[in-house]
Amino acid sequence: MVSLYDLDRAGLADLLDGEPRYRVDQLWRGIWVEGRPLAEVTTVPARLRSSLAERFAPSLRARADVASEHGATRKWVFELADGATIETVLMVYRDRVTVCVSSQAGCAMGCTFCATGQAGFTRQLSVGEVVEQVLVATWSAAPRRLSNVVFMGMGEPLANYPVTVEVVRRLHEARGLSARHLTVSTVGVVPGIERLAREGLPLTLAVSLHAANDETRDSLVPLNRRYPLQRLYEACETWIGATGRRLSFEWALIDGVNDTDRARDELVAYASGLRAHVNLIPLNPTPGYLVRGSSPERVGAFRDGLIARGVNATVRNTRGRSIEAACGQLAAVTNARRSLVVRSRPAVAPEGRAPAHE
Ligand code: SAH
Ligand code: SF4
Repeated sequence: MVSLYDLDRAGLADLLDGEPRYRVDQLWRGIWVEGRPLAEVTTVPARLRSSLAERFAPSLRARADVASEHGATRKWVFELADGATIETVLMVYRDRVTVCVSSQAGCAMGCTFCATGQAGFTRQLSVGEVVEQVLVATWSAAPRRLSNVVFMGMGEPLANYPVTVEVVRRLHEARGLSARHLTVSTVGVVPGIERLAREGLPLTLAVSLHAANDETRDSLVPLNRRYPLQRLYEACETWIGATGRRLSFEWALIDGVNDTDRARDELVAYASGLRAHVNLIPLNPTPGYLVRGSSPERVGAFRDGLIARGVNATVRNTRGRSIEAACGQLAAVTNARRSLVVRSRPAVAPEGRAPAHE
């Protein structure tokens, strides 16, 4: 067991076996419903709090904590117990407070334009490791209430399916977050979408589409070769049919690749039948993908073109770009590897000369 937050209510009851029954309620209320740090759950006696704190060290240790936009965006790089690293981003808006959580350390999907994909996969996160990201953000946002959780950090949430489902369930039940406030973003793991459709969970599904012809999508999203657009379309229909909820597509606009009139018309044809909302994301720069994002004018024209053809579309702002906290820029794994390389390099080169540069 890594984290206190891996435990559900029954797990807490087992843990507190021997204590009066109402302690379980007090602890559950304090850490989950009220979202307090354990040390501040003063309804529970101090001796119990400190023995729990000794047994369950926090899973996340902040290795970096940076802010931008005058503190409205904050990014943490967390080191996990085994040294793996992940990133979490808090975004404070006038009308909502959103945390963007990682579901895996790294990602195996290899999307070419995404920093996490470029870095590769390290491991799955546990329920507690995802929940702790939400809680750190909750504590940081106070006195504002954390209102939204989006699974758009590192990793593919539907490739860590049981953990994603359990976290959504817990956040709904204990924190009272509903479908509009919980968004799972997937690159298009078709069996995961179909399974999720049957769970009856309150969540919004976002599908990272980026191209509506197989040739282009194959080149951006390798998973498209396994689950091409037609299969993805059917999975989206299943989702909509089973949940009655609207779906959204994400589309990172890349200069000359998927921002052309032809790409727009393909998207219109694909999205119209599903009545999907389109979220346009100006491509954020990453070290491993040298194609540029579309110009702001092209982004605006693309959006207007969609709207004129009856597709609901909005442009997502690029919060946190300067601290590499924007969509697709999270790459703690690469950074960790880089710092490892730097640390293990000898200060003096074998030949006795100082290294030329770092
Ligand atoms: N794996 C999931 C969720 C994490 S990625 C998914 O792919 O949907 C979150 C979003 O960031 C996705 O829509 C992804 O396509 C997008 N993204 C990845 N790299 C990006 C980049 N360089 N610029 C803009 N958006 C990017
Ligand atoms: Fe993974 Fe999503 Fe990045 Fe693709 S875009 S590599 S699925 S995190």
